Amino acid sequence: MGEIMNTLVVFAHHEAASFNAAMKDQAVAVLSARGHQVMVSDLYAMNFEPLAQRSDFTELSGTEPMNYLMEQRNASAKNAFSEDIKAEMDKVRWAETIIFQCPIWWFSVPAILKGWFDRVLATGFSWDFGKNYDQGLLRGKKALLSVTTGGSGPMYESTGINGDIHQMLFPVHHGVLYFCGMTVLEPFIAYAAFQAGDEGRKKYLEQYKEVLEHLDSRAVIAYRPHADFDDSGRLK
Ligand code: FAD
Repeated sequence: MGEIMNTLVVFAHHEAASFNAAMKDQAVAVLSARGHQVMVSDLYAMNFEPLAQRSDFTELSGTEPMNYLMEQRNASAKNAFSEDIKAEMDKVRWAETIIFQCPIWWFSVPAILKGWFDRVLATGFSWDFGKNYDQGLLRGKKALLSVTTGGSGPMYESTGINGDIHQMLFPVHHGVLYFCGMTVLEPFIAYAAFQAGDEGRKKYLEQYKEVLEHLDSRAVIAYRPHADFDDSGRLK
């Protein structure tokens, strides 16, 4: 890695001695040692509120029933978000790379991280009407999912019983991160984190170190830009 990079690690695990915590610590240690600036949002430790609700806004437009998406848009224009959302938005603005560290729960991310997506990646802040995917408001930032699974590697192959891991991660990769304009890096996956045993987990931590040391050249998932689609949203 050449230049100094600002990295935000959004971490979603309830246990400080978990393997996910060790992965988060590895990211902080490796990136800091290389001179990068690193911030961590430890969502459980922060007791991060995952529920989208009226109190997320310091003023409301008055439309009833309250439309969360339109209130986000209004709040983005007036900087009228609650303090906890504003603090996370400041970290996102600051970050050039965002790493999401969490276990896979029900083929997705834990609810607390889903709540972070819902509340922090607000309309008018991370995307807006006509400003999504390659036009998204967070374009230029890189995103890396670093996840652990219960299922094994073979189970997550395209012919495996769980189906292709990329298919499983598509809703987050494409529907959240790329939707906001971020460049999505190939994920790091520690399969069967529990079954792997101490040796297997040690190996994962070493492999992850390699990944972190070469983050600037990590393969990007190539998603299609708006230009590839017609006005109805169909592929040309
Ligand atoms: P932990 O249990 O915290 O850690 C595993 C082991 O690593 C522990 O023995 C710990 O002591 C040890 N460890 C900690 N630090 C280190 C270190 N530095 N070096 C070496 N070892 C260390 N899995 C799927 O595949 N698909 C699903 O859809 C899915 N859904 C789930 C839904 C729920 C609600 C839950 C609870 C689990 C689900 N799982 C699923 C399983 C889940 O993904 C795994 O339990 C999780 O990935 C394991 O990671 P962890 O950090 O929680 O492990």
